[in-house]
Order: sequence, then structure tokens, then C-alpha cells
Amino acid sequence: MINRLIELFEENQIEYWTSGKNVSKDEINITCPFCSDHSNHLSINPEKRIFYCRLCKESDSLFNLLIEFNIDRNIIRNTLSKRQNYADNQRSLKTYTNIYIHSKTADFDGVELPNECSEHILNLHRKYLLSRNFDSEFLTKKYNLKFVGPVGKFKNRIIIPIFYNRKLVHFTSRDVTNKQESKYLHESTDKIGYTIHNFLYNIDTVKSDKIIIIEGVTDVWRMGDGFVCSFGYSVAQEQIALMMKKNIKNIIILFDNEERALKQAEKTASELDGIFNVNVFKLPFDVKDPGELSIPQAKELRRMLLDE
Ligand SMILES: [Zn+2]
Repeated sequence: MINRLIELFEENQIEYWTSGKNVSKDEINITCPFCSDHSNHLSINPEKRIFYCRLCKESDSLFNLLIEFNIDRNIIRNTLSKRQNYADNQRSLKTYTNIYIHSKTADFDGVELPNECSEHILNLHRKYLLSRNFDSEFLTKKYNLKFVGPVGKFKNRIIIPIFYNRKLVHFTSRDVTNKQESKYLHESTDKIGYTIHNFLYNIDTVKSDKIIIIEGVTDVWRMGDGFVCSFGYSVAQEQIALMMKKNIKNIIILFDNEERALKQAEKTASELDGIFNVNVFKLPFDVKDPGELSIPQAKELRRMLLDE
């Protein structure tokens, strides 16, 4: 890692010291970018991936220091990656192999959709989809959507079935009034015996060793085949096992265009790193999330990410 870090400093013309004044053993010093340091007061501990400035007392992760120098996030992550740490790698492989074996034998019995749902789309559902610039007829067919009117636990929602190997294994639902307490309401785990986090939405459409993880179901609707969502920012161990089972090698994480989501994306990436080749991608358009992209923009993004 130290060699890769030094390479990065050289590539970016960042002066560094590995010995001499202010430099402790196993540390690298640079000029602090956070204060008026004219010397080399900022010490980096490459092993712990943290830094500390003796002058202004600034301290944080090495990742956040390198961001200060406008270095690409993916390059930073690759530099700091523990991937080449054999022991770590073997440990995670062992854990996931166990989960893999477990989930291979796990029997997902399937689920029944609520009685009150129907194939018949009501005006309120159509209006909601139209307001988000979706073609309701196309979506209904492609994703097997069902609709609930003003009755029952799933009232005024679109029922979103979740398939795995073409079997209906779970479902979630989207409130179309934007007035209910939860935007998304999943079928209860107690009722079917396993959680929604055993699956990735749209996983059956992934046909290569590359997968793109986005935040939400509606983002998947916009982006289409090869894009999945994990029903939240994080990726559960079962979902990791699922991707291993599908022989996924490359993961791109594409979350919403805001600081919090980008931080979450980095966190998720570091959890998946060492098992998959992971990259975080920032939306190249001025929109809040992939769901807001126009159809031509979504097409362009697909081309970029899937080399279509
Ligand atoms: Zn400083």
C-alpha cells in the first residue's frame, strides 16, 4: 500500500517525506493543505489510513485527505484497497462461501400478492407514474406491477413483485399519494419467513459479470436491465452471496447525486471491496437521482456503464 500511495503522490506532484524532521517511523509526511504549513507537518499513517497535522491538529481518514487534492475517488479507493491483503481476502471469502452454501440450499417458498391487488391500473396510479415521466403500460408489463385502490394494508399503492430465478419470492409497494407514512412498504418478514434483503430487485435481468447497484426501485425502472437495487444503501451478506452465485465480478455503485448518498456509496464500496471489483460512479447529469433522468439521458448512461 505504501508504494502505491507514494506512486499516487508522484503522479499528482505532491511532495512527500519518508524520513527526517517531523517524520515518525512508518509514517509519511506532506505539507498540510488545511493550514499555512510551509514545511511537512502533516503525518500519514498508511497502515491505519489516517492522518494528523502537528500544526493545525486537523485529523481524519486518508481517503478524505486525498480528496482534498482533487484525486478521483476510484483511484483513491484502489490505492487504499486492502484487496492485496491475502489474509483479509481469505477471511471474507470463507465467510461468504458459507453464506453461499447456506443460501444455495435455502428454500424460498414464494409469496402471495395481497388479495386486494389487481391488474387494473386506477387513475391515481397512472397519474403518479406519469408525474414521474414513466410509461405505465410498459412498466406494468415489464415488471408485472399490480395496483391497490383505497382498501387494506397496501391501500393506494403499486405492488412491486420481486422475482428470483423467475419465481415470485417477495414484494414491496410504493405509495402513490406521497401522503402515507412509508413510501415503500414490504410484505412482512414474519409472514413469509425471510427478508427482502435476501434479494436484489431486477437481478434476473443481469446477464454478464457486471452489475450496477442503484438506490431505488424507480431508478431501476428508469435504467432497466442490468441495474438492481438492494432496498436501501447497504448490501446485506445474503445479497453479496447472491451476487457471488451469479458470478458477478464487477460492481458499479450509482447512488443519488447528494453528499450523503455519495458517502454511503463509498461505505458500501469498501464493504464489497476485496470480494468484487468495485467502482463508485457519480451521476454525470444535473439531476437528483437516476429516476429523474430523461429517457435519452438514461440511454446515454446505459451506454457509458454497460458499454452498449
Ligand atoms: Zn495543518
